[in-house]
Amino acid sequence: MTKRELYQKAYRLLDELTPIKTDCGELCNKACCDSNDVDAGMYLFPGEEVMYRPVPPWLKIEKSDFTYGRNKPVNIAICTEPCERSLRPLACRIFPLTPYIEDNGNMIIKIDPRSAVLCPLARKNADYKLDEEFIDTVVRVFRFLARDKDIRAYILSLSQLIDEEEEYLRSFFQK
Ligand code: SF4
Ligand code: SF4
Repeated sequence: MTKRELYQKAYRLLDELTPIKTDCGELCNKACCDSNDVDAGMYLFPGEEVMYRPVPPWLKIEKSDFTYGRNKPVNIAICTEPCERSLRPLACRIFPLTPYIEDNGNMIIKIDPRSAVLCPLARKNADYKLDEEFIDTVVRVFRFLARDKDIRAYILSLSQLIDEEEEYLRSFFQK
């Protein structure tokens, strides 16, 4: 499958799903979509920019400093106003979950520890449980996406980044 076909399939499967059955934006005033935060942005998965040709007016795509594989730059997407929901990037569709490759090479889906700063659903002892259908679909999506070698290499780098940021946060709060 081409990258476009892979992402079209992933977008379609996740199109109608949300982390919980009700509107979680009411819990946090849509913290993860705050377009007033100029630093806000989400990494695009490898080749995902193919879904934004032409780039819609609410989106900017830039190269980030984060790299994967053999020093390939990761694109970052920054929404400057509320998006067209049917076109929201994959990272937004799966938030606050993330794929993660463990030391033994096994890929799992877990709550991205970095999301807890913003997302009340991601905090320990959260009052709400993520919807099972949402979790199962994210698992299903990454089963086929991770067969693509670029995407797997990206998930590996992302996992290392998550480890580093978790370690930093741990040491920061121990001070
Ligand atoms: S931050 Fe979490 S709870 Fe708030 S809108 Fe985003 S996913 Fe929902
Ligand atoms: S692209 Fe859409 S879903 Fe993603 S952060 Fe921006 S407004 Fe929210």
